[in-house]
Amino acid sequence: MWQSDNFLRPPGARDEKEFLARCLQCGQCAQVCIFDCIKMRRGFNVFMAGTPEINPKAAPCHLCMRCSEICPSDALHDVDIYDVRMGFAELDQKKCLTWTEKLLCRTCYERCPIKWKAMILEAGEYPIITRECAGCGLCEYVCPVDAIVVTPTRFQKDREVASGEDV
Ligand code: SF4
Ligand code: SF4
Ligand code: SF4
Repeated sequence: MWQSDNFLRPPGARDEKEFLARCLQCGQCAQVCIFDCIKMRRGFNVFMAGTPEINPKAAPCHLCMRCSEICPSDALHDVDIYDVRMGFAELDQKKCLTWTEKLLCRTCYERCPIKWKAMILEAGEYPIITRECAGCGLCEYVCPVDAIVVTPTRFQKDREVASGEDV
C-alpha cells in the first residue's frame, strides 16, 4: 500500500534523529490513541518501519496527550499541550471560503483544540493560524476545500519564516 512521506510524528516526538534512536517500535502509543490516528509505518526501511505516524487527511491528532504519557523510551516525551510542535499549518486564503467571502465557514477555528492560541479570528470572522500552532492537523482534516496543509516539523528549516504572519 502507498504511504506518504508527509506524515506527522505524535505529540512530544523528539527531533527525528533522536526519535528514531529511541523508538522501540512497540506500538503502545497507537494502542492508547482512542482516536485511532496513529498508524505504525510499514515497508522495508528498518529504521522507519514500525514507527508511529499520523496522516491528518485520514485521521488527525486531537491532542489528548495519552501517547506521550505512555511512551516507555521517551521517544515521545511528556510535553505541555501548548508546547506541542508536530508541524505547522498554513492556510491558503485564496482557497478559504471565508477569506474569499463565498461563505462564512470558520470550521477550522471551531475544531482547533487550542483556538485563541493557535488560531485566531481577524475581525471576528477570518481565521489566521499563529506561531503557536501545534500541527495536530484537525483543521486540515475538517476544511471542506483543502485550504489548509500541515507541514511536519522535521521538514521545517525555520518555523518563524514558515509562519509568514506576524501575530
Ligand atoms: S495526542 Fe491523543 S489523539 Fe493525538 S496521537 Fe496521541 S493519543 Fe492520538
Ligand atoms: S491551527 Fe490547526 S494544526 Fe494548528 S493546532 Fe489548531 S487545529 Fe491543530
Ligand atoms: S475550514 Fe477551510 S474554508 Fe472553512 S474557514 Fe477554515 S480554511 Fe476557510
